[in-house]
Amino acid sequence: MNTLEKLKILGAGAKYDTSCGGDERKKHPEQPLYGIYNAIAYGKCFPMLKVLQTNSCAHDCKYCVNSCRERARATFEPGELAGVFGEFAKKGLVEGLFLSSAVGGDPDLASERMLETAEIVRGKLGFGGYIHLKALPGASRDCIERLCGLANRVSINIEAPSAGRMNELSSTKAFRNDILRRMGWLGQMKRSGRLTNFTTQFVVGANGESDLEYLQMCEWMYGNLGLWRAYFSSFSPVRGTGLERRIAESPLREHALYQADWLLRVYGFRFEEIEGLTGKGGRLPVGEDLKLKYANSRKELYPVEVNEAKFSELIWVPGIGPTSASRIMKARNAGKKISGLRELGDFGVALKRAANFIVIDGAGRQSRLGEY
Ligand code: SF4
Repeated sequence: MNTLEKLKILGAGAKYDTSCGGDERKKHPEQPLYGIYNAIAYGKCFPMLKVLQTNSCAHDCKYCVNSCRERARATFEPGELAGVFGEFAKKGLVEGLFLSSAVGGDPDLASERMLETAEIVRGKLGFGGYIHLKALPGASRDCIERLCGLANRVSINIEAPSAGRMNELSSTKAFRNDILRRMGWLGQMKRSGRLTNFTTQFVVGANGESDLEYLQMCEWMYGNLGLWRAYFSSFSPVRGTGLERRIAESPLREHALYQADWLLRVYGFRFEEIEGLTGKGGRLPVGEDLKLKYANSRKELYPVEVNEAKFSELIWVPGIGPTSASRIMKARNAGKKISGLRELGDFGVALKRAANFIVIDGAGRQSRLGEY
């Protein structure tokens, strides 16, 4: 199999991983650019080579394209894949590398191949830009430490929200040992300053899991392991896999989970508060603004006086996010008094959403109608 054929298979195999965002770029009319995706990192969107080192896997995860026995198999040798990346980078087609892999027979052998690729890219090619590497389930601590030394970001995919759920999806992957234990090591490396951040990803809706199951696990990982953030990828059935007859999950559910996760991670909501927003079967409402829903259900907490509220109170107001709350605090700390809605608008507050939940010097929406 030639390099281009491998790139076609292994670039497509990486598209299920959403932890670096992005849509596959349109194929170039003359040169097929398999594996090039628009990704988001450090708040910036840029083209990235997103690819698997191999799609041969010893595991049998029923949702995963790599568990499909009839699938064409391909493996990049480290020098070959580094060469593809170098060529793309030289032409300005990519500005970063996202390298993942199926597990093959031995997670350390698969990790060694990825490490060798990344070492060539960093060393021989002298690439100093963004590299995201995947820690593989079951990989040794030594391999994971070396990944951390080469990557700007590392991730390990949890996929299911509990050991019980994982057992239903895979007969080979050990949730606690293969994944959580490795995640714990990443947390230790982060605390010791050897790793900036690490992320994970869930497959959403493969097996009847409730939203609360995912969110409870998120809260636990943020609090106990130092996870930076979780990504959610809607389940989509793949022909030839154990779940090929399941119905695809709606991206709207994924969107609701991202909102709830944002409330937990950025706004400081507790799991119990998110729980109060869910309906039957622990499912979040889809297509709704969850912060607004919460504020409407907790009228006793509002309105908030913008000239006196703490940062933590401001960010719980619908229409006020961390950036606008920081600007308000900065202005107040500089001795400025906020006197009207126009000023709040200048700080980036979404006035229509915030209006019912704030007062400015004791005056609420009714007395400020003329300002809208
Ligand atoms: S271990 Fe990873 S690559 Fe292998 S089947 Fe499971 S999810 Fe797919």
